[in-house]
Amino acid sequence: MTKRAYNFNAGPAALPLEVLEQAQSEFVEFRGSGMSIMEMSHRGAIYEGVHNETKQLLTELLGIPEGYQILFLQGGASTQFAMIPMNFLQGRTGSYVMTGSWADKAVKEAKNFGSTHIAASSEANQFRSIPSLDTFNVPEDSAYLHITSNETIEGTQFQQYPDAGSVPLIADLSSDIMSRPLDVSQFAMIYAGAQKNLGPSGVTVVIVRDDFITEVPKTVPTMFRYETHVKNNSLYNTPPAYSIYMVNLVLQWIKGKGGLAGIERQNREKSGLIYQAIDASGGFYNGFAEKDSRSMMNITFRLQNEELEKKFVKASEAEGFVGLKGHRSVGGLRASAYNAVPYESCKALAQFMAEFQRTNG
Ligand code: PMP
Repeated sequence: MTKRAYNFNAGPAALPLEVLEQAQSEFVEFRGSGMSIMEMSHRGAIYEGVHNETKQLLTELLGIPEGYQILFLQGGASTQFAMIPMNFLQGRTGSYVMTGSWADKAVKEAKNFGSTHIAASSEANQFRSIPSLDTFNVPEDSAYLHITSNETIEGTQFQQYPDAGSVPLIADLSSDIMSRPLDVSQFAMIYAGAQKNLGPSGVTVVIVRDDFITEVPKTVPTMFRYETHVKNNSLYNTPPAYSIYMVNLVLQWIKGKGGLAGIERQNREKSGLIYQAIDASGGFYNGFAEKDSRSMMNITFRLQNEELEKKFVKASEAEGFVGLKGHRSVGGLRASAYNAVPYESCKALAQFMAEFQRTNG
């Protein structure tokens, strides 16, 4: 039997075993075609079937209303940080909510293209929380308001999304897309790199409202215009076919788990096990995020000192846990419990944490 690690990697991250096994079973010959899906034309009926079905699954699972486009782009969510201001600023100001490391990258990139405004920030408390929605200051003439739904590094997550009134709302959902139900109609655009909850790296899903896409100056390269990809069903150039196929399998797996409501229930239970281990430790483990901003995806915590944290990582690795070392910018520990991380892995981690405390507390 295959030995699978307790994989808590932050991204690329665990994929469902069933999905990997299905991909394996059709790796060499894809559905009677005599070749793998990587070897066929992206303009042929077989690939196009997978491509369009993947859009259909996203529409169904997220309940995407009429009037939205689904795009499969490349260059990761990081490229979206630039494409957004390139397409939508056009002399206006982009408003951003500063929630942590990824929001900061999005703002820095926008500054290369125009002016930005910080609508709210949690920098004063080291990004341990999502700023309270009633403190948001969004000028009405902002080109958009950009938020980072889940800060992967700090381990915070919006529990509710802001109502930006007439200002179009854009969300980076890279680390929590498909982890809970979402009302897409609240947003002018959402986007996510695939490598956490959707599949392998290589494809970025963008969902954008038709009327938000406007003409852009000729100085914006063809590949960096949303319009190009809308007009060509994301087949303007060669798409990352294998990644999109994997997203298709992951979406079918999510469907089989009861869709987003079912997935959310599991995510709440899974992250709950680990938060419970933190909260029951009497201060041996300290959660980084404030309780009302805790992420279901990335659970960040610290021990008394770095030496003990190093010992924790080493001991966890010896027990088959992978990826628990926190990001270098925050330090400490981080358990990323995305959709595909099994309940058993979270249970094993909670048990390991209790045991480690017993022998080191
Ligand atoms: N935004 C968030 C919230 C992320 O977690 C990441 C990746 N960790 C990115 C953006 C950047 O994504 P990519 O590596 O796909 O460019």
